[in-house]
Order: sequence, then C-alpha cells, then structure tokens
Amino acid sequence: MALPRPLILLSNDDGINAPGLLALERALAPLGRLVTVAPLTEQSATSRRITLRRPLHCEQRGDCRYGVNGTPADSVMLALIHLLKEPPSLVVTGINNGPNLGENVYYSGTVGAAAEGAKFGIPSIAVSVNQRVRVDFGPAGRVAAQISAKVLECGLPRGVALNVNVPLGNPSGVCVTRQCEKISRNVVIERKDPHGRPYFWIHEEVPAEAAQDGSDYAAVHRGEVSVTPLQFDHTAYGSLDRVSRDICDISLGALGEDQ
Ligand code: MN
Repeated sequence: MALPRPLILLSNDDGINAPGLLALERALAPLGRLVTVAPLTEQSATSRRITLRRPLHCEQRGDCRYGVNGTPADSVMLALIHLLKEPPSLVVTGINNGPNLGENVYYSGTVGAAAEGAKFGIPSIAVSVNQRVRVDFGPAGRVAAQISAKVLECGLPRGVALNVNVPLGNPSGVCVTRQCEKISRNVVIERKDPHGRPYFWIHEEVPAEAAQDGSDYAAVHRGEVSVTPLQFDHTAYGSLDRVSRDICDISLGALGEDQ
C-alpha cells in the first residue's frame, strides 16, 4: 500500500490573498497534501505575536485554505492544535514580499510563523524574496520546492527552522549562512498631517558597505540563495557563569528589611 503523501502546512504574513503565498502553493503542490492557514490581512513585522484579548475567527477561503483574523503565529498555532487532524510533516511560510535578512529576523512575521512550527517540533522553513516591486516569485518557488523536498527527506534538528532568502532573478548558487549583525539603520521620518500635527514613519536603510563574510546579507548580495538555520532559545549560554557570579550573589535575607 502506498504511503500517504506528506501533509504540509503553509502560512505567511502578507495575507491569505498574497501572490507570494499563491506561488508557494503552486510550487509545493507536487510534494504533498497542502493546507494553508494564513492571516486574512497583511501582518508583516508582527514577529510571533499572538492574540489573547479578542476571539479568533477562521474563514474557509477555498479548498484546504483558511483565513484567520489574527497573526501568522495565531494561524500556525490554530492549525497545529485545532484544525489539522494529524501533525504535518513540514511547515513552510512565505513567500514573503521582501527580504528577511540580519536583524529583520527579529521582526518578521514570516519567520515568526516558522518559529511557531519549530516550537511544535515540526521542521519549518521561512522563504523570502529580495525584491519588493514587480516580484517574480517563480525562482523562489522553485527554491522553496527543492529545499522542502530535502527537508522532507532529511528532517531538521528539533526546534531549528530554516530562514531562506532568495535574491532577485535566477540565483547563482545556494549556501548556508549565519544571521548578519546589524548593518541596517532605522530612521524615523517626521512629516506634518493636514492639521499641522506631526506624524512619523519608521523606515530602514541598508548601507551599501560590505556585509560580514558568511552572512545572509553577503550571500544574497552575491546573487546566491541564503539558508540560515535559526534557533529560538535566547539564553546567552556564554554569560551563565558571569551572571551567576556577579548578579545572583544577593542575600535574600535582606529582601523586605528596612536598612
Ligand atoms: Mn511580509
């Protein structure tokens, strides 16, 4: 008897109708049974935010497609705990319209959704394309399909998600990278509304100077696909001894006592 085709959960942060998500569905269709659970509206830069103070609703938006009035992490959590009758073999998020390189990883809802999948012990992949206008998702879709096939075959270490960034055009190679240290610069642009009140845009500038060797930015600037294995345990293991020695050496007997 043939084995059932693997179940693959798809999500994103650009919303259920985003062209990048539709391209991901087309590209991964040959690999397994797809179920898409994604935010109804764009939720870029929501990281792993979850919704706790209002109800979530889930609307069917086609065959095995569901829209959620919440965040990317809400969507993945709802799918994995409630909607899916079996755990998926893979979670793939994207294809994000715009890169998720360096410190963007901290803010990205695309990465947040993949992190949520990894937290549940499911091999998870976030896919982004380094282009924002007139995006051709074709090359990124082909990359997503090939990397997804590899992960289905080989698995990933538990709790690890892949952050895949595809350059503009046809990539010249694929390489493993580390997350670049900060090279971008946040700027706040102030303007005046018609009533004379100031308003602000948070914006990011990426200077042209060379990114660190071996980093995600360097690979994409060279025209290669960047594959960064991410982990989500934020403990600074190198600081455990020092914090134990310098900070935790307090006397609990002194708590609450007037000196
Ligand atoms: Mn996005």
